This record gives sequence, structure tokens and C-alpha cells, in this order.
Amino acid sequence: MSNRADVTIIGAGVVGLAIAAQVAKANRHVYVLEKNQSFGLETSSRQSGVIHAGIYYPKGSLKAKLCVAGNRSLYQLCPRYDIGHKRLGKLIVAVEDEERDELETLLERGRGNGAEGLKLLSRRGLKELESNVEGVGAILSPSSGIIDSYALMQYFVAKAVEGEAQIAYQTKVVGIEKTAEGYEVEVEDSEGRSSFITSVLVNSAGLYSDKVAEMAGIDIDRAGYRLHYGKGDYFSLKKRQSTRVSRLIYPVPPSDIAGVGIHITFDLEGRVRLGPDIEYVDSLDYAIDRREQKLFYDSGKRLLPAIEYDDLEPEMAGIRPKLQEPGGEIRDFVIRDESDKGLPAFINLIGIESPGLTAAPAIAEYVAGLIEERL
Ligand SMILES: Cc1cc2nc3c(=O)[nH]c(=O)nc-3n(C[C@H](O)[C@H](O)[C@H](O)COP(=O)(O)OP(=O)(O)OC[C@H]3O[C@@H](n4cnc5c(N)ncnc54)[C@H](O)[C@@H]3O)c2cc1C
Repeated sequence: MSNRADVTIIGAGVVGLAIAAQVAKANRHVYVLEKNQSFGLETSSRQSGVIHAGIYYPKGSLKAKLCVAGNRSLYQLCPRYDIGHKRLGKLIVAVEDEERDELETLLERGRGNGAEGLKLLSRRGLKELESNVEGVGAILSPSSGIIDSYALMQYFVAKAVEGEAQIAYQTKVVGIEKTAEGYEVEVEDSEGRSSFITSVLVNSAGLYSDKVAEMAGIDIDRAGYRLHYGKGDYFSLKKRQSTRVSRLIYPVPPSDIAGVGIHITFDLEGRVRLGPDIEYVDSLDYAIDRREQKLFYDSGKRLLPAIEYDDLEPEMAGIRPKLQEPGGEIRDFVIRDESDKGLPAFINLIGIESPGLTAAPAIAEYVAGLIEERL
């Protein structure tokens, strides 16, 4: 590693890698620093793998804009670079009559956000598409799908390396100091501690992004950057003819929760799973609570009545880096150059929860715009 970089990105999750792929080019020193031994070992590999359409998020928010743009980019990128994906479509299902109004609200919001092809279905329309699903109506979102997130990250790694970016694994950022030329970044690796200077510093550290912002001297409580951990468990679902579905099946999200509700998703091999729920936790512990099986069973059975309790097996868990406090207002992604905090060319990405995977290519373009202004 040389002692001078133009752009340094902290974190080799899907977002940091997408940014590296976007900004790497010959004659530019781009570093990606990752504390783990490989890329994507945290949130980017503990998620649903859904290409979202952009329905849920408040109009004009970064979540809405970058999700819709990311959705389009992924459907262009995937076939071109042979990245596994399926445009399955998704149904948001109203089970009770009282949920119909919320369906209308979601439909209007999704259309306002630019989500493509949304359609309201009657009970009959729903049955025609998914005979095993029970509901009084649904929104069909044809542009929702699934993606092999590992293959997407591999593509970003290859593109970044082709542009001569260097990715340093087992390299943890432990200190950040503003200097006249940019930022002095202190790292810890197998050889001990060392530091180098970078002109632009991008904080894409996922669950630790608030701590990294703090390292640079930001008061994270004043800035509203303190993260809360929203754990989500998944249970896999045994396949049977009576529980067969061919689209992603979501409930109408309850208004009092900070997620979109336990839903039915697939991976590209066709394995079906239920999840994730949301529970605010204090530590980064991925153990699944088996006692939750009843909650998952009840939530799944509402949508797919043929599910049996024993069809469920604990699978995995992920943790969302949430800016939203328990019971608090929904929060947007923070993606900004911190020049108004006296830290020009320090770009923070904080609270990149869902739809961060879908939005990654669009986030990368947005951040590249902020970076180019500084170089
Ligand atoms: C349960 C769950 C389900 C989800 N489902 C979906 C979905 O279906 N569709 C969708 O679009 N999005 C989904 N998301 C959101 C999506 O997974 C995330 O937005 C995305 O993976 C975030 O990527 P990232 O690169 O910001 O973070 P991460 O993948 O967490 O990467 C951050 C990296 O920074 C590294 N790092 C941290 N601190 C340091 C340091 N000091 N020094 C060096 N490296 C450091 C970490 O080791 C890590 O590798 C889901 C998330 C969860 C939790």
C-alpha cells in the first residue's frame, strides 16, 4: 500500500464495492479497506436478495429514488454480466378487508416513486396468479425480483480491480485525522498499525458507519447518526405442492413496525424462506431464537394457509443498520459530503438498510458525483 491515495473507501460490502467499481480508473489511487478476510461477509450476505421496486419509501427520499434507479440498473447489469437473477414479480397481499385502504396508499406511493407496472388485483385476480395464497386483494409488482448478491459483489470486485483499485482485507480502520491534504487514515493489519493520507474518504462501513463517523470527530448524537440494530431472523420452508408459490409474497406492512413484515422469498435455487422479522437488539449476535418459530408460522399461515408448523426450520439472521429508533419515525439513508461539519471530502453513508442491495449501483453513481466534485 502506498502512503498516498486519491479515494479511500471503508467497507467492502455491496455498497462500498459498487462505489469502488464506479470510481476506479487508471492513474487514480483507489483503496478499499475491509476488516474481514473477504468481501461481503456482513449485512450484504445476510439479507433477502430481493430486487425491490421502490414501493414503500417516502416520495422524494433517497431510499425511493435510489431504489427505483438501482432496480433499473440491476436489470441491465445482470443479463449483460451473467449475474444470476430472476424477475419473479411480487404480490403485497391484503388478508383482511381493513387492509384494502393501505393497499391503495401503497399503490399510490409506489406509482409516485416511479415503481414500474404496479397493478391492483381483486381476490380473483390474486387467486388466478397464486392459487395457494389467501387474500382479499393484492398489489402486483412485476419489476420485483431476486438476485445472487454474491455474484453481484464479485462483478463489482472485478470491475474495481480492472480499474486498478486495491482491496485490502484484514485491514481495519482505527483512526481518522483531518489534515491539510485530506485525511490521515490509521489502519491495523497483520503487520500492526500504519497510516496514509487520502484526498477523499468514503465511509461505507455498514453496521459500524456511525463509529467511523465518530472517529472523524463527528458528534453522532447531535448529527442524528447513531445506529440501532434491527435484527431479522429467517426460517426456511419445506416445499410442498399446497404451499407452492411462484412470486414473492408480502403482507401489507403493519404501521407500527420498522420492517416490511415477514414475507415469503426464494433464493435462485428455488429454496423458499420466511422472514425477516424485526427485533431491536444491543449486540451483533446472529443466533436465531427458535422460540420465534410460532411467530413465523402464524405470519406465514396468514398468507399461505397450507403451511404446517413443522415445515419451518431456523435458517439465518441479518442485522439492519437502522437510524430509526425503536418506535421512532422512519429515516432516510444518510449519504453526504460532510463539508458543513468542517470535513470536506469526507463522505458518510449511514443507515444503509433495505433497499441498500437494490440501490447499490445507484448509490455508487450518486457518491461518484460527490467524489468527482472533490478531485
Ligand atoms: C435482514 C435483512 C434483509 C435485507 N433484505 C434486503 C433485500 O431483500 N433487498 C435489498 O435491496 N436490501 C436488503 N437489505 C439491505 C442490504 O442488505 C444492505 O443495505 C446492504 O447489504 C448494505 O451494504 P453495505 O455495503 O452498506 O454494508 P455491509 O455489507 O455491512 O458492509 C460494510 C463493510 O464494512 C466493513 N467495516 C466496518 N467497519 C470497518 C472498519 N473500521 N474498517 C474496515 N472495514 C470496516 C465491514 O466489515 C463490512 O464488510 C437487507 C438487510 C437485512 C439486514
